[in-house]
Amino acid sequence: MLTGIYPGTFDPITRGHTDVIARSIRLVDRIIVAVALNPGKEPLFDLADRVELAKIATQDLAGVEVEPFEGLLVEYVKNRGAQAIIRGLRAVSDFEHEFQMALLNRKLDSNLETLFLMASEEYSYLTSSMVKEVASLGGPLHDFLHPEVAQRLTARLHAFRP
Ligand code: ADP
Repeated sequence: MLTGIYPGTFDPITRGHTDVIARSIRLVDRIIVAVALNPGKEPLFDLADRVELAKIATQDLAGVEVEPFEGLLVEYVKNRGAQAIIRGLRAVSDFEHEFQMALLNRKLDSNLETLFLMASEEYSYLTSSMVKEVASLGGPLHDFLHPEVAQRLTARLHAFRP
């Protein structure tokens, strides 16, 4: 049983993320979407909401599980019996940070590999931050988010600005 861990903040999960998940499930038997607490990024949605939204957005994909995660990624990967970390790459700008993290994780556990996948080019510009900005300006979200995630994002932003 090959397991891949796809870690991230997922604040909220976008169609770029789900595209990467759909591609990675063709390579392994099981993908665990590991939603990181990541307080340093000051997420808009709390951890439980980000997990719930990731579950909603991946509900039609077989072999995908979603879990919250906190702490050292290499320990989590080991505890889950996973073989690889999955990450997505958009533009060259992602590379430097992803490269450093992959090498650091491999230093911490020499058996651990990171697989990089590219989402479909239609999502290559898509980031959670950009989607939050579009949402805050009242723009259409359908191309970027699962409809239920879009609805929850709009509601969340309204809660801040009545
Ligand atoms: P993190 O805070 O760990 O970067 P994110 O939720 O922003 O968490 O991203 C998780 C992973 O998904 C990262 O590897 C990121 O590069 C990748 N990713 C996010 N959006 C896209 C996209 N549109 N296409 C490809 N990969 C993406």
